[in-house]
Amino acid sequence: MFFVFKPEVTTEERERFLDELRAQDLTPLAVTGNDTRAYGLVGPSTVLGSLALDRHPLIEEVIRDSAPYKRASRAMRPDDTVVSVGGVRVGAERFVVIAGPCAVESEAQLEAAAVAVKAEGAVALRGGAYKPRTSPYSFQGHGPEALEILSVVSRRHGLPVVTEILDAADLPHFAGKVGALQVGARNMQNYALLRAVGRSGLPVVLKRGLAATAEELLLAAEYILNEGNDDVILCERGIRTFETSTRNTLDLNSVAWLKRHTHLPVLVDPSHGTGLAELVTPLAKAAVAVGADGLLIEVHPAPAEALSDGRQSLSPPAFAQLMRELKPFVEAAGRCL
Ligand code: PEP
Ligand code: MN
Repeated sequence: MFFVFKPEVTTEERERFLDELRAQDLTPLAVTGNDTRAYGLVGPSTVLGSLALDRHPLIEEVIRDSAPYKRASRAMRPDDTVVSVGGVRVGAERFVVIAGPCAVESEAQLEAAAVAVKAEGAVALRGGAYKPRTSPYSFQGHGPEALEILSVVSRRHGLPVVTEILDAADLPHFAGKVGALQVGARNMQNYALLRAVGRSGLPVVLKRGLAATAEELLLAAEYILNEGNDDVILCERGIRTFETSTRNTLDLNSVAWLKRHTHLPVLVDPSHGTGLAELVTPLAKAAVAVGADGLLIEVHPAPAEALSDGRQSLSPPAFAQLMRELKPFVEAAGRCL
């Protein structure tokens, strides 16, 4: 629900009214932009439902919308949010490419990946220290040791790191080492983890769950925003459908939809979205066309030897080719690489 105060309402009247709402367990949120009289209202649906604002003497207009998210909503914040990941602005004019291996396997492997992706214009480094693997017998990541490697390689090349957190108890290991925490697809609805990363003081890359709707993704983002963390970046990484020729179905509808309904930056991960290295470049181009703010790409110095996701990982020359082919698409979209 949104409401707009009448123009003649004084600051005192407004503040008293907002306090009355807060006393009913509701949270009024000022809409940013020119209209300082507009507020969004969040809180228990029972309270919202019984609220009689329509004929209130201070209120000019009440707008009942069906969107259950508010802080993530573009209606609350018409302008795009720009999130700084270790100084790299995500959601601004520059189209950002974040690249690196699926998992950190060794310092030599991460170093080779970092050199390769930086040379071609990647602005941040990805790489998992804690891996959410479907099978408990698959490589699970090197944990704190990998975070240390990420930190060393990140500083050496001036590339901020994006890396996944699986368990809130590991947060202390990440502090001071990473530019952003990634909450993976499997944890998009792990509400305790969402709250914890919301309190972490670090930017968060939130990936869409494999069976989650775009609206559920925004509600998951809302959990993080509710903790006072405004630095949320969304990532479309493909969903499960009946299609089996690709690992997932990269839902680019959601990107166009999200860009209309939220002010948060939206990335696309065509590596997990397709599962096939040869499809990464065409889908990366499509991501630019539908309005994504950047890409998350898996690059491994020797994909055939990767401990995870080798089939979808680009070799350094393939990544260089992707960046070359991407440039005119990014420029056509009015952005720069
Ligand atoms: C990853 O980025 O390596 C990863 C595990 O991604 P997702 O959560 O999208 O599967
Ligand atoms: Mn992966």
